[in-house]
Amino acid sequence: MSESQDYYSVLGVSKSATADELKKAYRTLAMKYHPDRNPDDKEAEEKFKEVNNAYQVLSDPEKRQRYDALGHDAFTHGGAGGAGGPGMDPMDIFAQMFGGAGGGEGFDLGDLFGFGGGRRRRNSNGPVPGDDLLYELTIDFEDAVFGADKTIQIPRTEKCTHCNGEGCEPGTSKKTCPTCKGTGQITQSRGFFSMSQPCSHCHGQGVIIEKPCKECNGAGAVRKTSHLDVHVPAGIDTGNRLRLAGQGAAGLRGGANGDLYVSISVRPSDVFERQNNDLYCIVPIPFTTAVLGGTLTVPTITGPEEIKIPAGVQSGTKFRVKGKGMPNARGGNRGDEYIVIQVEIPTSLSSEQTKKMKEFAAVSSSSSQYPKQAAFQKKSARWTRKG
Ligand SMILES: [Zn+2]
Ligand SMILES: [Zn+2]
Repeated sequence: MSESQDYYSVLGVSKSATADELKKAYRTLAMKYHPDRNPDDKEAEEKFKEVNNAYQVLSDPEKRQRYDALGHDAFTHGGAGGAGGPGMDPMDIFAQMFGGAGGGEGFDLGDLFGFGGGRRRRNSNGPVPGDDLLYELTIDFEDAVFGADKTIQIPRTEKCTHCNGEGCEPGTSKKTCPTCKGTGQITQSRGFFSMSQPCSHCHGQGVIIEKPCKECNGAGAVRKTSHLDVHVPAGIDTGNRLRLAGQGAAGLRGGANGDLYVSISVRPSDVFERQNNDLYCIVPIPFTTAVLGGTLTVPTITGPEEIKIPAGVQSGTKFRVKGKGMPNARGGNRGDEYIVIQVEIPTSLSSEQTKKMKEFAAVSSSSSQYPKQAAFQKKSARWTRKG
């Protein structure tokens, strides 16, 4: 992943791109790099994450403003290899953009992408594996920090217990289709050509259920909503997927069940902003503390910590609180927390304060105490000279 690339160039748009331009660029790239279109392609997967991260930040006016102000590094610190990106689940963003499943509804991956149906509808009386299902689970930030056990409701097809998936009423059995003699295919000769098509009598199954199961109407499976327990490990991030083997749609005629993928979306915290496993916390401090230095009590996910602020600290300065980031869901080191200083200047002063500030201003030396201002004046002199 090219860490240095800013989000505008990731989406290939200009810094002044409109919301529509962003959306259009995102659509094109997200379709191109979607993991289901690029199986086992690590590079595409990274690209997909990058594109989603970029879109997520730039499509949110508040985040975009912050991004423009703080710069790319503040949003990408922590390096590659982490799962997912800031805030929302890439799949969630994707689903919103493309009209996929809404929150919490299970749906077929195959239905969304227009493939995967083939293996279901193949004309055969052999086993048919069940489809994989995707469930989108939104959890609170605290759940991502500490881990959580959740119960989800998943609508899916399950093997019919009345007929044990056979499709015929208990005590009866299937008969070989007399029309196609069990092949499921009818072959017709027309001159030199012979054409095969699925047998219409048995719908290509090769067998006929004489007495369909009254619970599933012969399908061998029923649609129902089941409750499942899902353990969400600490440190999980938006875009991570949990795989629950065999918990997808029921297989037919002895086929294996599909898997259930739980795609995680973490609600953003109003205190911390996550970047990979690092947390960023913007802490406003009085300008007097910035000038004089002092001790600051800052929030961390394991409770308050005190950090020392040196005299003369500037807005945007970052302080690292080591090991106070997110736990690593895959094991390994925790991330760090970064305190980002935001100097706050009072918007009203008492008359006594005004008097003291004026006294302070009078004894300030602009060139040595405000080096940035001095440098700016020098380089902008050509444009600020009057007359
Ligand atoms: Zn049944
Ligand atoms: Zn038949």
